[in-house]
Amino acid sequence: MTATTDAALEQLPTGPGVDGTDLPYWEGLRSGVLTLPRCRACGTWRSLGRVLCPECWAFETDWEAVPARGRIFSWARSQRAFISELDVPVPYVTALVELESAPVRVLGILLDASGDASGADPAIGDTVTGVIVQPANAEYPVLRWQSAAAS
Ligand SMILES: [Zn+2]
Repeated sequence: MTATTDAALEQLPTGPGVDGTDLPYWEGLRSGVLTLPRCRACGTWRSLGRVLCPECWAFETDWEAVPARGRIFSWARSQRAFISELDVPVPYVTALVELESAPVRVLGILLDASGDASGADPAIGDTVTGVIVQPANAEYPVLRWQSAAAS
């Protein structure tokens, strides 16, 4: 295992992976839309990063815009920024959100009602909405979650 230096971390870009299979997700964020993969053969939603359908093993994928709204499934507070593109002070809260419109969970930094990422502990089941922001030091925008009460 190779140790990663802070300098190397600062060079990591946001955006599509080297194989480009998640490019529609990132281009969707650039257009202000959360876009997720769905199997063209059977309609099953896929998590980001899966190239095969977990139900029918088809490769063919459609990308569909979905409302960025859901409920917190899980969350964690981080005491260290692992990549500089996060562009938030530590500590920050990351939430795994189960979407209302599709059976998919999407990870993102959680902002509280004031837009602060280090706010009070959220509750499992809290409703949140997606906010697409462009960090100053990143090539692509990122999705963040915010308390629905703040939007
Ligand atoms: Zn399928």
